[in-house]
Amino acid sequence: MKYYSTNKNTPSVNLKNAVVKGLAADNGLFMPERIEKFNPSFFENIQNISFQEIAFEVAKNFFGEDVEEASLKEIVYDTLAFDCPVVKVADNIYSLELFHGPTLAFKDVGARFMARLLNYFLVENEKQVHVLVATSGDTGSAVANGFLGVDGIHVHVLYPKGKVSKIQESQFTTLGQNITALEIDGTFDDCQRLVKTAFLDEELNKKLLLTSANSINVARFLPQAFYYFNAYARMKEQGMLQNNELVISVPSGNFGNLTAGLFAREMGLPVAQFLAANNENDVVYEYLKSGEYNPRDSVETIANAMDVGAPSNFARILELYGHSHEKISSVIKGFRYSDEQIRETVKNVYEQTGYLCDPHGACGYRALEEFLGVGQTGVFLETAHPAKFTETVEGVIGNGNVPLPPKLAEFMKDERRVLPMSIDFQQFKEYLKQLK
Ligand SMILES: *Cc1c(COP(=O)(O)O)cnc(C)c1O
Repeated sequence: MKYYSTNKNTPSVNLKNAVVKGLAADNGLFMPERIEKFNPSFFENIQNISFQEIAFEVAKNFFGEDVEEASLKEIVYDTLAFDCPVVKVADNIYSLELFHGPTLAFKDVGARFMARLLNYFLVENEKQVHVLVATSGDTGSAVANGFLGVDGIHVHVLYPKGKVSKIQESQFTTLGQNITALEIDGTFDDCQRLVKTAFLDEELNKKLLLTSANSINVARFLPQAFYYFNAYARMKEQGMLQNNELVISVPSGNFGNLTAGLFAREMGLPVAQFLAANNENDVVYEYLKSGEYNPRDSVETIANAMDVGAPSNFARILELYGHSHEKISSVIKGFRYSDEQIRETVKNVYEQTGYLCDPHGACGYRALEEFLGVGQTGVFLETAHPAKFTETVEGVIGNGNVPLPPKLAEFMKDERRVLPMSIDFQQFKEYLKQLK
């Protein structure tokens, strides 16, 4: 299958190139040239099929022409070594828990899949690949853990000194093996600038195979469709849907997660409606209302993984629906919440149902609560474990005992190993030059 650029100013490429390059040469995002629809009979029996089997069927639709079947099966099964269960929260409102992976957030799925797919394409290649990631917290931990121990790939995580939480930092500074943490004496923007400058440096690119593990990469983006299909299957299996329409609510920042859901719907998944739940970074919310898209600088909120002012996957949504505002605003309804509303929702849901949402999931829950009508059942994507946001969550529910899951506690115990570095590109370049 070929992948074309949303900017349409550069030739289409094969899957391997789309994965290794990440972004198209004209700065557009890669899109698969076709989206295959499942036969409706697939959905009649889907409740009898396991998560891994469903994911394998979905993966074959996208990657089946480019990856040998047995290898693809191994990549999928290995990625989904943890579950994404659907649990009941309130009447007709369910939570799709995407936080049972190594770093307790949904990005683990895409990061693991990408690591294994990249490894598949590079086994023949004797040259080591160097993945450079700038992180403000969560991306670095998902990528580092997804790539941990994968042959032929070394990950270098650049993060701003003193600006990520202790829990986040421990998730990429304690791993060792093929993961190196670079503690940059600057801001997230400085980290990003160093990485971008390295990608453009001719001397470095002659010597090393450099790549990014950005969330716009098709190998991170498309596998997120897996758990939408599985949510439908498990809800059907557990009698949660009855004859109701399914409404899916997605806490959104860069809109990769929600766009993967739209792809699932294009493949035939019976979803009546998507809800995009935002914090105060509301450019898509405004677009859905007015048809005008005005990206701007992000503002800081307590749901910080959604602090995005210019969501990159918006280009894919426009492309998917031929730039029709009418179509887009009928498939997706927008919701926007202030920090105060998010805190209020975490508290109310906890007091009324006993379910503890993280600040991102809380936005998803609230959108369902406000939107759902008669004959509809809702599921929201719980994108992170609440323990990743203990300071916010404990303050809101008024007791200081959100237990740290064992996985997080393990990270906190291990020794932190970092390489301190200034924001001077020459120093970063010298570091990269001595790599093999
Ligand atoms: C990354 C992230 C989001 C936003 O997902 P997008 O795909 O960027 O829209 C939401 N919640 C959490 C916890 C995240 O880490």
